Amino acid sequence: MAIMPHCVVCGFDSGADVAGSVEFADYNPGWQDPSIDGNPVIGWSNSLGVTAPDGVGLFCREHLKAARKLRRLRSDEAVALMSAGGHQHWREQLRSFFGRP
Ligand SMILES: [Zn+2]
Repeated sequence: MAIMPHCVVCGFDSGADVAGSVEFADYNPGWQDPSIDGNPVIGWSNSLGVTAPDGVGLFCREHLKAARKLRRLRSDEAVALMSAGGHQHWREQLRSFFGRP
């Protein structure tokens, strides 16, 4: 099954076009496309559910700006922050995230 590009915060349902990608702290520059016995794997996805290297997220225009500010985090942490906070409140979420003892 092919996986359509979608914003990892909005998901499939919003229908938002992907505006760009962000490489997070857990991205490995030496990453290579998955293959089995030298044949590329079709329909693979990373831990965020998009066809991009591990540690890379795809974002719509609305979430791309916020994602770039969170690029020092791991990709899963950044996406969890933006998903949990909704787009209005991600700043507050970030504050409480780093404010934890
Ligand atoms: Zn989005």
